[in-house]
Amino acid sequence: MANRAYDVIMVGGGVMGCATAYYLLKFEPKLKVALIERDPTYAKASTPLSDGNIRVQFNVKENILMSMYGLEVLKTFATDMAVEGEKADVGFRQQGNLFIASEASQEEARAGLALQQSLGCQVEWLTPEQVKKVYPFYNLEGCAGGTLGHQDGSMSPLDFLLAYKRKAVSMGAEFIQAEVSEVLREGKQATGVRLTNGDVFTAGSVVNSAGPWAPKVAATVGVNLPILPTKRQVFVLETEARSEKILPAIFFPSGLYLFHEGAGHFTCGKSLATDPVGYDDFEWDRRMFEEYLWEELVSYLPDFDRLKVTQGWAGLYEMNTFDGNAILGEWPELKGFYLENGFSGHGFQQAPAVGRYTAELILGRPLSLDLSAFNASRILENKPLPESKRRII
Ligand SMILES: Cc1cc2nc3c(=O)[nH]c(=O)nc-3n(C[C@H](O)[C@H](O)[C@H](O)COP(=O)(O)OP(=O)(O)OC[C@H]3O[C@@H](n4cnc5c(N)ncnc54)[C@H](O)[C@@H]3O)c2cc1C
Repeated sequence: MANRAYDVIMVGGGVMGCATAYYLLKFEPKLKVALIERDPTYAKASTPLSDGNIRVQFNVKENILMSMYGLEVLKTFATDMAVEGEKADVGFRQQGNLFIASEASQEEARAGLALQQSLGCQVEWLTPEQVKKVYPFYNLEGCAGGTLGHQDGSMSPLDFLLAYKRKAVSMGAEFIQAEVSEVLREGKQATGVRLTNGDVFTAGSVVNSAGPWAPKVAATVGVNLPILPTKRQVFVLETEARSEKILPAIFFPSGLYLFHEGAGHFTCGKSLATDPVGYDDFEWDRRMFEEYLWEELVSYLPDFDRLKVTQGWAGLYEMNTFDGNAILGEWPELKGFYLENGFSGHGFQQAPAVGRYTAELILGRPLSLDLSAFNASRILENKPLPESKRRII
């Protein structure tokens, strides 16, 4: 049995764990940081299974500010993450995101737009005619208008994660392939972790960056998080409908969304209330597209009646059943136990802001961006902070 001492231990080396390790070492280069990850291939981790999209189109101010910071970071990401002269390439493409508003969702969309614009975001309201120009395939069914975020875009989520990982390791983080079996505590203080092989690592700060497995990790130290691992599927489509110009990603009011990858290649998904909860099901099933998504898609985009489902994949959302937003900061009843959890489908883009925030909290530095609205205390105080009242996310 080995015992090692660290200043900070990250439980989980996905995008959150790696971004946090990077910020910790950027602020305090001598810090001893352990990034504990049980699967360095990231086969089931949410990050590489995500759509890699970033948008400023939210209704909660802090979510907008987090994405604005993410966009800022992306401007110099390639060189900031360079290791031994090798730059990072995450293939960021700002194709824009187009959110369609129905009569029912229009008020919420306009309120979000006003907030985004007041913060300096480049988002505009489109009339149905303008929507048609931007997205010629759309027959405008149920369309009251739309909001187009010009800065929104997509990238390779795995490359983004690996860039943070490589950089953090080059700065001194220890990447350890191992599984944490429990977080350790003494009274009201977290003191480290025990691994499944029996090794004990001590640290004054332990960060739960275990993605959908966060509730399991938290439960080992008596913390009950309102998070359910929820299966989400993405389908890769080849369509007869083609566009040489890359179209913006389009999101319909029901939550159905479509990314254009080029020519007749699209990816499509939708969160359903019936999506299974659990840790074992990563099988994608084309029947789900055929039975639940296709008809709706064709109702909006009639040309999509002829297509092939060429591929697909399934990953887990870490669904925060309390309010669908991030759960951050120190758990109020356990000092030194920090959370970066519950992102419910929009965590990838928040990794830079969350990593910086957690690092600043741990090190007692002034906060660059106050994200206390998402602190875990709101769960104990029963003060939910939802993004949308209507949509399943
Ligand atoms: C289909 C899909 C599409 C998505 N699209 C988007 C999007 O477009 N934009 C967006 O912002 N977000 C999106 N998301 C959400 C996003 O993927 C997540 O919010 C984000 O990646 C969470 O990162 P993470 O590092 O917390 O989790 P993960 O990437 O899951 O990393 C957690 C890591 O912890 C490790 N781990 C767990 N338990 C232990 C343990 N006990 N010991 C050691 N290691 C452990 C796991 O192996 C894993 O590698 C999507 C998610 C899915 C499933």
